[in-house]
Amino acid sequence: MAASVKALLKLFFRKPMTYRFPPEMPLSEFSRGRHVLDMEKCRGCGACATICPNKAIEMVERETEDGKVRKYPQIDMFKCCFCGLCAEICPTGALKLTNFPWLVAMDKKSYIMPPEELAKPPELQMPPMKVKPKSIVDWARARSLWIVFYFTGCCFLEAAPWASSGFDMERFGLLTKGSPRQSDVLLVGGYVTPKTLRRIVRVYSQMPRPKYVMAFGCCPATGGTYWDSYNVIKELDKYIPVDMWIAGCPPRPEPIGLAVVMAMDAIQGMGYQGKEEKVPEEVKVPYYEPKPGEKEMVFTVPFGPQHPASGNFSIRLRLDGEYIFEAEAVPGYLHRGFEKLMEYRSWYQNIMIVQRICVLDGASYELAYAETVEELAGVEPPDRAKYLRVIQAELSRIQSHLLNIGLIAKAAGFDTVLNVAWGDREKVLYVRERLTGSRIYDIYSAPGGVRRDMPEKLREDVEEMVKKLRPQLEIYDDLLLKNPMFKERTVGVGKVDRDTAVEYDLVGPNLRASGMGFDVRKDVPYEVYGDLDFKVPCYEEGDAYHRTLVRRDEIEQSLNIIEQAVDEMPKGPFRKKVPFFMRVPKGEAWHCIESARGELCFYMVSDGSDRPYRVKVRGPTFDSILVLLPKVLKGAPLADVPVVYWSFDNCPADHDR
Ligand code: SF4
Ligand code: SF4
Ligand code: SF4
Repeated sequence: MAASVKALLKLFFRKPMTYRFPPEMPLSEFSRGRHVLDMEKCRGCGACATICPNKAIEMVERETEDGKVRKYPQIDMFKCCFCGLCAEICPTGALKLTNFPWLVAMDKKSYIMPPEELAKPPELQMPPMKVKPKSIVDWARARSLWIVFYFTGCCFLEAAPWASSGFDMERFGLLTKGSPRQSDVLLVGGYVTPKTLRRIVRVYSQMPRPKYVMAFGCCPATGGTYWDSYNVIKELDKYIPVDMWIAGCPPRPEPIGLAVVMAMDAIQGMGYQGKEEKVPEEVKVPYYEPKPGEKEMVFTVPFGPQHPASGNFSIRLRLDGEYIFEAEAVPGYLHRGFEKLMEYRSWYQNIMIVQRICVLDGASYELAYAETVEELAGVEPPDRAKYLRVIQAELSRIQSHLLNIGLIAKAAGFDTVLNVAWGDREKVLYVRERLTGSRIYDIYSAPGGVRRDMPEKLREDVEEMVKKLRPQLEIYDDLLLKNPMFKERTVGVGKVDRDTAVEYDLVGPNLRASGMGFDVRKDVPYEVYGDLDFKVPCYEEGDAYHRTLVRRDEIEQSLNIIEQAVDEMPKGPFRKKVPFFMRVPKGEAWHCIESARGELCFYMVSDGSDRPYRVKVRGPTFDSILVLLPKVLKGAPLADVPVVYWSFDNCPADHDR
């Protein structure tokens, strides 16, 4: 207990890390934001439209000053994923990406940007907020927006920090509520599938009037990256009214603040009461009804998919009293058909989609993909690229583990640790954005190397990050891992012994917590892991506590690896030029890496064309969650479910791709 008090005192005297709002622009000089077009330089070649994997660019005709007609790009920002391939291919440098990420509007049509709009440099326009309130009721309503999140896809990862200490949405009177009955704002974050749509409609219809809907990310507006997926809803506003659209893929957290200020402005200035309600009958879902003849005291409880502790995944629990006698995994809320989508995109275009298989650790997926293509194509990336890839992968591992430590702490009732861990994660995302151009979806590793060189000041950024994070690990020890209450909730809970772990194909930290020290980085080294000095943390106990402990120890090892990679970074090129529409020789390849959740493998077949003939991804969470978790939960009390679930560090999108 003394350790916890000591850690809390340390936190109390620590400088707060809440960002300013409105923020100073640009948010980061390195981030990939809205485009800007130099119409004089544009030759109308259309290469940008051809490479765009999302069909976001249309070539439109405009008359030039000398009376000629020329074609220019027009971009639908709601179809764009800000990958930057269009700017990369542009032969004249006419099209560039700025570092301006803000795109918020009440009308989604305003996201279609004609060339003249693209030619204007973007600027942040805050709503005036000086309007005289029409009534005291509107004034009060505008300042007490209570929000129910429905995170349907990867956008979750940038919407959730808005509720953490870094962005502190309570400054705006915005509170998160677990129940739609108490909420007047529904924030839909990410892509919507038919299965989630019915739940969204149910949540929406339970909210009291007036109610407002914010759609976060490009997917709810157009299907975004998944414009050609059979299982993604293309226009959410066909089913429920959407008052505020926030573009981005994912948007940064700050635009939620802008959207809220815009909403406050509309509510108190115009008495805005939301758009007209429309819910087609066919998408409504009935509540669960017990089956006839069900045993007394036997309940079926759906744990998720709209549950703060489940992510977008559901476990159907059958309870006798408060003990589980049967658990069934219910996936399908996030299915987008990735392997098929990749077979319809060129080898290079796939670099912008592949990391979306698991938003929690997208860097690992792009790395595994790039390495598999290189194996097929016989391309060897330069040494400098290998070191940069290692830094990228380890940054991703750290932020993923911090996210998980926060979630398991929250599941065990330690909300402060969630705020601390997610605040620390911001420091990692800061460095990540400077290295790759994005906080979440790097789109950095590509066949042939990486897409940009190490920025000049990255060494100092890394030093600063390591200096801040190392002592923080002690805070996690004192506040969480040495805390008798956390131990009470996790030691011996959700136990998996070594034989079971091997039998059920557990991988990564889950496997290593059960006594099996296998790590692809050590046992089958790739990139430059074989030259770096690091340990593989391993424990015998196999319970929720030790799975958390492995992740905590791995953060320490990843910091060591990053320091070494920065120190030993060789000079030279960072990529080998491969053609944008390259053809890969006929053949097949199977390649694995160690992602944050463990062994991740790609199997790909090439028929010699410009796109993969077959793609199969073996993600790290398939067996642990869909097969083993229901068995581990059998006999457990209901109260243990969140802790056990998060101790396996599920990424629903990984096994539900
Ligand atoms: S940034 Fe990517 S998705 Fe957006 S328009 Fe350019 S190529 Fe298309
Ligand atoms: S912006 Fe560049 S790639 Fe696009 S049409 Fe103009 S010159 Fe061609
Ligand atoms: S693909 Fe982009 S817009 Fe769609 S849910 Fe994921 S991050 Fe959000």
